[in-house]
Amino acid sequence: MGYDQLKIPKATARRLPLYYRYIQNLYNSGKQRVSSAELSEAVKVDSATIRRDFSYFGALGKKGYGYNVQYLLNFFRKALNQDELTKVALVGVGNLGTALLNYNFTKGNNTKIVAAFDTNEEKIGKKIGEVVVRSVDDLEEVLEEEGIEVVILTVPAHAAQVVTDRLVKANVKGILNFTPTRISVPPTVRVHHIDLAVELQSFVYFINNFSPEEDLTDEDEEESTQDVLVTNSSE
Ligand code: NAD
Repeated sequence: MGYDQLKIPKATARRLPLYYRYIQNLYNSGKQRVSSAELSEAVKVDSATIRRDFSYFGALGKKGYGYNVQYLLNFFRKALNQDELTKVALVGVGNLGTALLNYNFTKGNNTKIVAAFDTNEEKIGKKIGEVVVRSVDDLEEVLEEEGIEVVILTVPAHAAQVVTDRLVKANVKGILNFTPTRISVPPTVRVHHIDLAVELQSFVYFINNFSPEEDLTDEDEEESTQDVLVTNSSE
């Protein structure tokens, strides 16, 4: 099987996990084909957007036939790197960190928190879910031993940059930042901020100012996004 690099817009890339989850369910229930209308109903993305997204993946639906579920599943698995386990570390095992560790993304997902760190002596050595909390003093050593390049940051805001600087030195590639601190990293490190307060504020603003029908279409969103690369299978 050969691979080539395929450019898809960021907005499409963001929908990949959503599609993947639903296609997995269809596959597990023995379904072989799916129409864009069925997908649209299930994932709440309009069918024109689905058709355009899927055309980037080389999946061309046929009228009256729909899309081949097996093809889509293979594509998403490769694009989302689901054939390999992506090990993740979590720093800061407080309220939020504990909830994420207990959840641990295991269902139908090949991304797993395998190490967790804290400064609190009472937490160090405790097992949460399947993970034993380690001292943050061991951070660099464990990241290297386990080959971990992705980190979830759930420390208090004041500790965020100090921990980030250590993560950067330890050659981490990506930080999922739940803290309200806008952390600084070199351009080689990707940071995604998950700010629930901002999400909630923007959600309430939309509720008060727009009806769901007059939301921006995905086409508008698409025009303002750049392309990203995913690995595509060209069997
Ligand atoms: P928390 O105080 O319960 O937990 C923070 C944990 O980080 C504690 O266990 C603490 O011992 C540990 N810690 C402190 N300094 C550290 C360091 N240098 N290295 C490693 N561990 C360290 O806080 P929380 O409620 O879990 O929130 C964590 C972060 O997530 C905060 O920045 C908060 O603003 C943000 N956040 C929390 C929520 C939530 O619902 N709890 C929601 C959104 C964002």
